[in-house]
Amino acid sequence: MLRSIRYAEADRILHLYTPLHGRIGAIAKGVRRARSRFGARLEPFFQIRVVLHEGRGDLFTVTGVDTVATHGALRDQARTLDAAARACDAVTRLFETSEPHPEVFQLLANELALLDRDAAQARAANGLAFRMKLLLAAGIVPQLGACAECGEVEHLRGFSAAAGGVVCSSCESAAFPLEEESYRFLVDALGHSLAQAPDASDRALRQAERAITEMSEHHAHVRLRPLLGAA
Ligand SMILES: [Zn+2]
Repeated sequence: MLRSIRYAEADRILHLYTPLHGRIGAIAKGVRRARSRFGARLEPFFQIRVVLHEGRGDLFTVTGVDTVATHGALRDQARTLDAAARACDAVTRLFETSEPHPEVFQLLANELALLDRDAAQARAANGLAFRMKLLLAAGIVPQLGACAECGEVEHLRGFSAAAGGVVCSSCESAAFPLEEESYRFLVDALGHSLAQAPDASDRALRQAERAITEMSEHHAHVRLRPLLGAA
């Protein structure tokens, strides 16, 4: 569950990310009443198995819920809670339709399980690696192997979202400088599992974040919530 919003007197509107139906909205009626059958089973970051009734509008109606994982430990600390909220928010913004992306579901499930198991993973490098993998799933991962403008494979010194990735020293007029360490981070973030996401200096992470943010703005028209701030 990505999000849960209070609605009317005792209902909740839920934003769910599903393996086969992408992002969907559902209404859970009466769940804020004390005697609700499944009120306690409908919290953000829960992984649930849910039975939905298709109504006439855009919203499904929840008729049954089984809890698969509550990820209870990640609620104990503000930083894991915040990292989980940012992960769900990035999925919400980049994948807002019912188009199926089972790999995004799996990625989010992995990220929530990781934050639940190991609070030390609530770090910027992990959050950025997660976003790089989301860009890959969304089909807007930056080109990193060669200059996105001319194909040159050496002297890759800048990053241009408009060009679609790294650019060489002759093509860097519209780019911002991307240092070697930041470049390495972007490559390694894609090449490793989330649990093994590489670490990097604050400066490199800020550049990596700028590259990721500009890619999603330029190619998906999505503004991601900042993790670190300007490079
Ligand atoms: Zn070039």
